[in-house]
Amino acid sequence: MLLGDRGPIVSFCFDDFPRTAYTTGGTILKSFGVHGTYYVALGLINTTNTLGDQFTQADLNSLLEDGHELGCHTFNHSSCRNVSASSFEMDVRKGREAIRQHIGSDASDFAYPYGHVSMRSKGIIGAQMNSCRGTYGGINERVADLNLLRANSLYGDVEGCARVEALLAENVRSSGWLIFYTHDVRKNHSPFGCTPVFLDRAISLTVESGNHIVPVKAAIDIFGNALPE
Ligand SMILES: [Zn+2]
Repeated sequence: MLLGDRGPIVSFCFDDFPRTAYTTGGTILKSFGVHGTYYVALGLINTTNTLGDQFTQADLNSLLEDGHELGCHTFNHSSCRNVSASSFEMDVRKGREAIRQHIGSDASDFAYPYGHVSMRSKGIIGAQMNSCRGTYGGINERVADLNLLRANSLYGDVEGCARVEALLAENVRSSGWLIFYTHDVRKNHSPFGCTPVFLDRAISLTVESGNHIVPVKAAIDIFGNALPE
């Protein structure tokens, strides 16, 4: 997809997702009046792992009411490196169907669990989804690969602000689409999460730098409307 001059846009994403991504992360997004994308693996509902307690049904309903987007992240959070291409495809379909049944909405934006992607799955899953996101860093600029959108981790604490600022400045220069992702948002975050202060600071820096914050689907709508095919 050609991005044209509709940028710079930034999307904040939460994967799996741990409850704190919504209860704390969602509250921070709300305080700025912006929305995020929650890539949910529905098989994780009501479970607890090293990222903390995972989402509940009430969280799903509530985040949609708040205006956030629900994306698909398979059902069982499987890696396409560990299962066959057909099993992986089944897990993706199962996850999307479970969201349809639980929530009544279609989750057509997808993120690869663990960021693992193969040429085979990229072709198969890419054909079924509005977009697919990986974990290869950098900025989506000029031409975005909707089958493997670039995204940058937002892990740790405020020591990561310099990196965030550099990415934001580059995104403004290239009028691009910058995507951040994280998991749990809490003081004692996992290695795959961040502190509430860091998320708050990252959003604040995004706004101050002149970048516009919207969820993934809305970003594609904005860029997609920018140019004739
Ligand atoms: Zn995940």
